[in-house]
Amino acid sequence: MNEYNNKMKMNLEIKAVPADACNQEKKDERLTHILDAIRDRQLLALNIETTSFCNLKCIFCRMHAERVGKTDEKGQSGGGKIKKHMSLELFKKIMEKCRGLDRLKTLFLHGLGEPLLNPHLVEMVRIAKTCDIAEKITLITNAVLLKQQLFRELVAAGVDNFRISLDVIDRDQYRKIKGADVGEVVLKNIDDCLVEIKNNSLPVSLSIECMESAVDKNYADESEKITEYFSEKIRRLPKVDVRLVKLVNWNERGERYEKFQRKFPCEQAFYMLMIHSDGDVSMCCKDDRKELLIGTVSSVDSLRDLLSSEKLIAMRKALLLQDYSLISACRHCDLRTSVDAELLEKKDFLLGFLFPVKKSLDNP
Ligand code: SF4
Repeated sequence: MNEYNNKMKMNLEIKAVPADACNQEKKDERLTHILDAIRDRQLLALNIETTSFCNLKCIFCRMHAERVGKTDEKGQSGGGKIKKHMSLELFKKIMEKCRGLDRLKTLFLHGLGEPLLNPHLVEMVRIAKTCDIAEKITLITNAVLLKQQLFRELVAAGVDNFRISLDVIDRDQYRKIKGADVGEVVLKNIDDCLVEIKNNSLPVSLSIECMESAVDKNYADESEKITEYFSEKIRRLPKVDVRLVKLVNWNERGERYEKFQRKFPCEQAFYMLMIHSDGDVSMCCKDDRKELLIGTVSSVDSLRDLLSSEKLIAMRKALLLQDYSLISACRHCDLRTSVDAELLEKKDFLLGFLFPVKKSLDNP
């Protein structure tokens, strides 16, 4: 935990935790789950991008900053990613194709867009809950559209965990950084959700997320203001917190992009998949250019088949060996998760898991 966060915890007496905070016991447990998932060709998490449209234009997001105005008449956004809502039909197909997978730890119903824009979202949550494919359903949202009524409907349908990307609280800063003058709307929506949780003792968890001053010092001020603003409001809500999240360098921002060279494997690639809104499947939920594609939903009978695909195995191997010729998107990605170092330590062991019968990939 960094100095800034300590200060917030001690001086302001609020709950503010790094999003990746993990004690040794949790780390060990996480590593065990990941190793089991690799060995058994299973997933722990699945990201379903319910839409790739967004109603904000955050300056730190390549989907909506660099590409604004660059989509062509077909909605193609420059990097092979199409802007579209996922259809209910495709969502149902994905649920069917989860057969063969063990119950996931988490189903994420967001990708690189704002999930609340999809008109079928509540129904999708309901279907996923009925199929019981995950222990927990999580939604990351900017909360621009998270009115009390919709919040109620999402909770009733089965969302267990909301993560609200607030990032900035000052109205002018919000407009500048997030690209729309809706900061006050978002605050009101969050306040109303907190009242709803309190008045009805809702069992959902909710995190209000802010940036860990990664890009600009201004974020640090904003984080402090956010924690001050919510301090009293969340005090007696045990499942609500304020979180600091690190901005990951996967979208090649300036100097950091040039300097950083990845030296660890990445745990994400070993336990989750991301399904884009058009049904393409990537190894990683940050694949905004579709550089880490491993197949499509329609090309397999079960998503589990993709876990045995030569493409995925080769990409995982490349991560373990830090050979970025096949996975150039990972070369400068500075995402650090809990057990990356442990995965590196177990590299030989993991290669044995990955290649019991696939030796031919070494000598194609
Ligand atoms: S290193 Fe970054 S881009 Fe590569 S799989 Fe991990 S999170 Fe994705």
